[in-house]
Amino acid sequence: MNDAILSPGIRPWAFAGAAAVLAAGVAAIMNPNVQQALFDRAASELTAISNTAPLADDALRVAVCGTSAPLPSTARAKACVAVFAGGKFYVVDTGPESVENLMLWNVPMAQIGGVFLTHFHSDHIGDLGELQLQSWAARRPHQLDVYGGPGIEDVVAGFNGAYSHDQTYRTEHHGESIMPLASWGMAAHVVTLEGEPTRAKDRVGVAYDDGELRVTAIEVDHAPIEPAYAYRFDYKGRSVVITGDYKAHPPLAKAAAGADLLVSEALSRSMTASLETAARSSGRGQVETIMHDIQDYHISPEEAAAIANEAGVGLLVYYHLSPAPDNFLARRLFASGVNAVRTDDWTIAEDGSLYTLPLDSNEIEIGRIDE
Ligand SMILES: [Zn+2]
Ligand SMILES: [Zn+2]
Repeated sequence: MNDAILSPGIRPWAFAGAAAVLAAGVAAIMNPNVQQALFDRAASELTAISNTAPLADDALRVAVCGTSAPLPSTARAKACVAVFAGGKFYVVDTGPESVENLMLWNVPMAQIGGVFLTHFHSDHIGDLGELQLQSWAARRPHQLDVYGGPGIEDVVAGFNGAYSHDQTYRTEHHGESIMPLASWGMAAHVVTLEGEPTRAKDRVGVAYDDGELRVTAIEVDHAPIEPAYAYRFDYKGRSVVITGDYKAHPPLAKAAAGADLLVSEALSRSMTASLETAARSSGRGQVETIMHDIQDYHISPEEAAAIANEAGVGLLVYYHLSPAPDNFLARRLFASGVNAVRTDDWTIAEDGSLYTLPLDSNEIEIGRIDE
């Protein structure tokens, strides 16, 4: 070896020593007994963890548990937003893969207060059965309350039916004290809107009110899909409006007036049109048609920014991103028209984005639920 290429003071024997230590380390971790000891330590940490931080103090918190639309993304689950208030958490939409996020973040699943479904498209309901199962297995003390527009009874009955054999297996295997039948399953609650239907689709209705937390259903336009709601959570002077899918919908600005946070879906028409063109070029007519059709019943980032401005919300958060902008350039392109409408106070959510709204304050703290 040529000492000239080594830093001053470093000698070949030092490399030999380091190599020997490395080799010994590799040999050690390849030993099954060492692997078992490492796993035992990880297991004790894993089973001891319950991430109660979002519920630790009295505040309104919003964690985004799924930020993508139906197109696949390795970084994002489908639509899901968790709201923490009053010692419980509530879930708006249960898109596929979203429950895995909640589990990975060690959210205390037994403390779920209810589920609110915006509408019944599959990217908003796919994990409902898993959410029921995982919160039951975590010793949820009662059936899971699920709120939604007319049709919610069918959705809940379908999931309950599909999971009924699973319940039998688990109760018989683990015992009634561990997996009690009484707290298994979901109870459907139909949320109705006040007044007669209007052409403007501008009705609201109280979905839930326990005296401290009030959840208001807001009718939105996702035609031809009906019912389609957004939900407004008001808790001790702080508030968040969470949309499902909708096209630019002026009445939402009124229903969202003064909210601290607007968590809105958004679809980039230019990026979706590009996917449509690419699908046509490659002869994938099915994909081409779907990419074409979805452009007319979603809101664009710019349109959502205009509604946020009109409503006077503190922070606009984009989620249910279509297509999911999974790198820096894609995010720039996705939001390229936003600054012309709303120069500040908007952000694109990632899975795990956490927004904390302290009480008696106008502050909005941005962080992550897994930190
Ligand atoms: Zn939809
Ligand atoms: Zn959707």
